[in-house]
Amino acid sequence: MPGKLIKQQSLSTASADPGQRIKVLTDYGSQVEIDKSLAVRLYFRSGREMLRMANMYCDEDQWESAFILYYKFITLFVEKLPSHPDYKSSPQEDIADFKRKVKRVFPIAEEIKKKLKQQYAKEEEIYLEEQKRLAAERQLEEERRRREREEQERKDAEMARRIQEEEDAQIRESLEEQYRKLQLEEKERLRKEEEKDREGGDHPVAGPLGGAIATAGAYILPNVPSELDSIPESNASASTSVFPPPPSYSQYLTDISSERPSVPDRNLKKNIAGDGSEQPSMPNNHMPTVDRSTKPSIDHHMSLGGFGDNVGGLRTVIVPSTLMDSFLTSAKSNTLKEAETMGILCGKMTLGAFKITHLFIPKQKGGHDSCDMENEEELIFYQDEHNLITLGWIHTHPTQTAFLSSVDLHSHFPWQKMMPEAIAIVCSPKFNESGIFKLTDRGLDVIGSCRQTGFHPHAKDPPLFESSAHVQLSESDTVQVVDKRN
Ligand SMILES: [Zn+2]
Ligand SMILES: [Zn+2]
Repeated sequence: MPGKLIKQQSLSTASADPGQRIKVLTDYGSQVEIDKSLAVRLYFRSGREMLRMANMYCDEDQWESAFILYYKFITLFVEKLPSHPDYKSSPQEDIADFKRKVKRVFPIAEEIKKKLKQQYAKEEEIYLEEQKRLAAERQLEEERRRREREEQERKDAEMARRIQEEEDAQIRESLEEQYRKLQLEEKERLRKEEEKDREGGDHPVAGPLGGAIATAGAYILPNVPSELDSIPESNASASTSVFPPPPSYSQYLTDISSERPSVPDRNLKKNIAGDGSEQPSMPNNHMPTVDRSTKPSIDHHMSLGGFGDNVGGLRTVIVPSTLMDSFLTSAKSNTLKEAETMGILCGKMTLGAFKITHLFIPKQKGGHDSCDMENEEELIFYQDEHNLITLGWIHTHPTQTAFLSSVDLHSHFPWQKMMPEAIAIVCSPKFNESGIFKLTDRGLDVIGSCRQTGFHPHAKDPPLFESSAHVQLSESDTVQVVDKRN
């Protein structure tokens, strides 16, 4: 029983309305192109595998992936394949069979569409509800920030007022101090002057000469400089010119207030702290929206674009590591005859990856350097019976190294064209090596447009094939060998 498939990532996100999301799926599902150089029977084979894969997705409730595959199937067999030049000459029973299949698929696709619409509507409801909740949350947050901002402004103003008051008080104190000092100095000066005045008036003549003048009146006053001569002419004017009068206290405050350092600007503080406009904006919580103008590009008809589990690349192909040895054992008798042997790699989808579970060795005609499958119906029948999809092929190079020859490149082209994950394994028993290959994009271009057959040269640079990076070897898995040659 296959394990649980990994739930796919929906490209059409819940933000889009249900109708839009369905349209994205149908747009993608209708972009199917056919390569008219590939045989119609290859498309029939691929169509069967598309249905098998779609059924697997249904079983796992992966409705988007299932819907895309069914839609591609309908597009392929209703619109595209009938324009293939060989369509009308194809076996009538095959055409009839696919018409029946299309008829069956239509109502299934419709049913899934209904299911998806319901799912999308529910998701949209949840999404809108969530948006509402987020908007309310944002509003509350804004309200809280506004209150915080106002509170901060109030505190800032209060702080500024207090700082202003303190500074005013300090200045007043220091001015008073200065004023007191000035007053004291002035008092002292006045006191000294008074003292001098007093000394000059009450005892105008001092010393022995004064006595002489008073007693001997006829004496001519000697020309001795009097102490009084050195005193400035007017006492009154001297006091204004040498010592300006102390200014009044209020005048002093007015003069000095213009030099007072101003209190830091409240707005400046706010800017440093980061005001509302500087705050980093709230993380954008709303869901990512899908760009509805972007349509998936034309893609392989078996791929699911970004809708499946192969987002942006190829799904992993799990190869049991015993596969090559099992195949070489089955190929041994041919190898001894230096004849090639080929097998078909079949498998299932599990856990979002493909796993090779069966090695189908069909009836075949092997030569020295090529090998062709016979009776392909047996393979189709077996795959239908066991619900298997084709994941590539394997063959031996009994005498050469492991690589893809020009014939191999052409043989592999349809496999990879039908299933982008398809691989080509080459085993070289002689050189004891094996390679797991796929065509490069350039290889797909070159081989897709090359009409030569048999061995022929191709331009090798850039390389046409490479080792498959999407392959994972598994020690724990084994393959069932189905040998139809006997
Ligand atoms: Zn080969
Ligand atoms: Zn070629």
